[in-house]
Amino acid sequence: MLSKLLPYEIFDKFDDISPEYLSSLGVRFLFSDVDNTLAPYEVPEPDERIRSWLDSLKEAGITVVLVSNNHGDRIELFNRTLGLAAYADCKKPGKKRLGEIMKSVGATAEDSAFLGDQIFTDVLSARNLGIKIALLVPPIKDKLTLFFRFKRLMEKPILRRYRKLHKEEDK
Ligand SMILES: [Mg+2]
Repeated sequence: MLSKLLPYEIFDKFDDISPEYLSSLGVRFLFSDVDNTLAPYEVPEPDERIRSWLDSLKEAGITVVLVSNNHGDRIELFNRTLGLAAYADCKKPGKKRLGEIMKSVGATAEDSAFLGDQIFTDVLSARNLGIKIALLVPPIKDKLTLFFRFKRLMEKPILRRYRKLHKEEDK
């Protein structure tokens, strides 16, 4: 179970993930979370940083698909000027709807990567879909509710294990 939850790689922020990096892994589709991965909850529309990162991916032939558990109006507004394939109410980490989305955009587990800020939602989604390249970024701005704090606490042993493994790789 623990290995299923291990991210493939952790980045400090979304735009540290370069198109060259993704292309070198054979990624043609990047399924990305929105809230706290690309923007905090309260920021309704993408800023210049997001746009230029998305442009660089597009130029490299990588299709970004927004997959959020948030509701339609949030995702519609966020995507209004981006015009990406974007899906709300994805019910991550369940694989039914995500599997349908992958199929409809023509992606396979082998040519896809998944990006998000939550292990039990985003990394687990990737794994449930058979996607190996599960990329994690720390949440841009965390909610401070008890439920969220509990989730972060649950993530700690997994992050420790990731760090340990990666340290060993560096040796
Ligand atoms: Mg999120």
